[in-house]
Amino acid sequence: MRSREPGEAIPRVNPITLAELPLRPELVGEEPYGAPQLDVPVCLNVNENPYPPSESVRRQMAHAVSRSASGLNRYPDREATELRSALADYIGFGTDADQVWPANGSNEVMTQILQAFGGPGRRLLTFTPTYSMYPEYARNTHTDYVTAPRDAYFGLDAARILAAIEAYRADIVLITTPNNPTGTTVPVAVIEEVCRATDAIVVVDEAYQEFTDTPEDSAIALLPKFGRLIVVRTLSKAFALAGGRVGYAVAAPAVIDALRIVRLPYHLSATTQAVARVALANAPEMLERVDELRETRAGLEEWLRLHGFDVVPSQSNFLLFGRFTDRHDVFTRLLDQGVLVREVGPEGFLRVCAGTPAETDAFRKAILTILPRIGLAPSDTRDQVGTKRRVREESR
Ligand SMILES: *Cc1c(COP(=O)(O)O)cnc(C)c1O
Repeated sequence: MRSREPGEAIPRVNPITLAELPLRPELVGEEPYGAPQLDVPVCLNVNENPYPPSESVRRQMAHAVSRSASGLNRYPDREATELRSALADYIGFGTDADQVWPANGSNEVMTQILQAFGGPGRRLLTFTPTYSMYPEYARNTHTDYVTAPRDAYFGLDAARILAAIEAYRADIVLITTPNNPTGTTVPVAVIEEVCRATDAIVVVDEAYQEFTDTPEDSAIALLPKFGRLIVVRTLSKAFALAGGRVGYAVAAPAVIDALRIVRLPYHLSATTQAVARVALANAPEMLERVDELRETRAGLEEWLRLHGFDVVPSQSNFLLFGRFTDRHDVFTRLLDQGVLVREVGPEGFLRVCAGTPAETDAFRKAILTILPRIGLAPSDTRDQVGTKRRVREESR
């Protein structure tokens, strides 16, 4: 660095650059997670529930926060005992509080799982295309990260999962169902077959479970049989609480004990716990738009197909659609119309989530406006991802 002239003012902000800092080598050149947070009229890019909590729930939350503020000079309940009981009641399947572990979003839960069971010399396996945060948890916890491809329909069967575990000698396998960004599911029977045949820790990310046609078909049902199975859920999506930052693991009490070893002390603030307890006490109301959003997604799926798009059959609140010769061009044209979607997933596809009726209308209008000017890939390319054939089979 250049030395300062005598009398030259010291800058208010230190001019050191990131390149000059002794960053961990594996972090050099990395960028922070960056789904764009833009101020546009229609945000359909991060799979949020578009409906805020009701007036009544908001009032209860304000009251609970105000009450908990009288104790904010004290550390919160480290074990989040009341919240864990409330979560256990909500989860069902006879779950007890000692089988539940909440943290600041399922992102933190999954990072804790890797802190406890991953680390140097251990390997995490996921199936692509999938959630873009997984490699970041692995990197942050010094865990090896490997991927195997899903099948042509973005599905997974037990043979494919077990072959990849074997080939990579994976210590932890992460199965996302419904998967982000494809919306495709993995049957509970497949997860059971995998658990039966492996010693690896099996993590099932059910972030979108409540949006499926059969939310009761959850891997949580398998927990009494498999001690190395961990099911991860969140209040961020169906539960309409993305801003509250609460996710949770459901697993054997011993697994929860492992997570309690690595969690930061007092990781979940008193305010977060209070807000989440109110949300859970009002579960039916918090979830009341889920059916509507599922129908919106189904309607949009149909509409996009009718307009010549390839759409991956989804069991979630979002859709992967294409197939574009230049998806960035389509993304930009939609943004020019005030509609933000996500540029993610296999080449040529975009992801859009179900919004309010007004937002979904705006999306459809924007698509119709740009349709004459965008390029769709020829149908033989489309068949490669299998969605066309799948659609034909389903419509029989
Ligand atoms: C949105 C999402 C989550 C939720 O993350 P939170 O930290 O709970 O907000 C987890 N997994 C997948 C696959 C997701 O898409």
